[in-house]
Amino acid sequence: MKKTFITRFAPSPTGLLHLGHGFSALLAYTMSQANDGSFLLRIEDIDQTRCRDEFTQEIYKDLSWLGIKWSEPVRIQSQHFADYEKYLNILDNMDLLYPCFCTRADIKKEIANAPSAPHGFDGVVYPQTCKKLSVSEQTQKQQSGAPYALRLDMEKAIAFLKAKNNWPLYWQDEIKGEITATPVEQGDIVLARKETPTSYHLAVTVDDHLENISHVIRGVDLFEATHIHRLLQALLGFETPIYHHHALLVDDDGQRLAKRSGSATLKSLREHGDDGIELAKKLMDKS
Ligand code: GLU
Repeated sequence: MKKTFITRFAPSPTGLLHLGHGFSALLAYTMSQANDGSFLLRIEDIDQTRCRDEFTQEIYKDLSWLGIKWSEPVRIQSQHFADYEKYLNILDNMDLLYPCFCTRADIKKEIANAPSAPHGFDGVVYPQTCKKLSVSEQTQKQQSGAPYALRLDMEKAIAFLKAKNNWPLYWQDEIKGEITATPVEQGDIVLARKETPTSYHLAVTVDDHLENISHVIRGVDLFEATHIHRLLQALLGFETPIYHHHALLVDDDGQRLAKRSGSATLKSLREHGDDGIELAKKLMDKS
């Protein structure tokens, strides 16, 4: 029997979509159609300080203009914090999390004194300052009301999987083939914060599981994050989708078309009267 093909486009409404987003959405949509599959839309708006509903409304208009049809309902992440909390608690009960009280400035200071400062997907790899706190120090700080993040203890997480004979981990990448996950390079990543009781990594992994995503089609700029998502899948007992990290669309000067680059937004082209279906065809000719 042919395996079901379910994919998604998962933008964060922190700004207007650009051509690069349009390309990514169209690629996933076209592949879902070619495979007689489903195309889901997910609004990744967990960061309530940066996400705005007006951008979400423009996303709907942009995708419709490009001729994309998604299956309802749209999953709005900010309406599902309880789902992320449930899985965060599972990791906590496995004793794989620790509270981190460091501010960005604390981390910067710590790193300034270190001989080297390796970088991962989330920026500089956390120097594990709060991992050294005793349980009583942790409790004292928590009781003082100091804000804290919950970090994954990477060493413990990997030791847990090794003890279960579930290591190393792999994933299938449609472009690069079989990839061995190396999450250790990402360090003790943040899985939740006081103001956002989840993180991109946790929420995306939980949603891909809950929505039975079979194919994750997204830009190669998220390739490094997949090492973390693969680890979380193994820890939480989730299946691993097939990944397709596509090359990023670049402009004529070879510059990446990202949100901040000042390249044309889909909204500006739409309001200028351009034909969305024609543009969609042109963009797919590039794939
Ligand atoms: N929300 C992420 C972004 O806009 C994409 C997440 C994903 O496709 O996994 O960059």
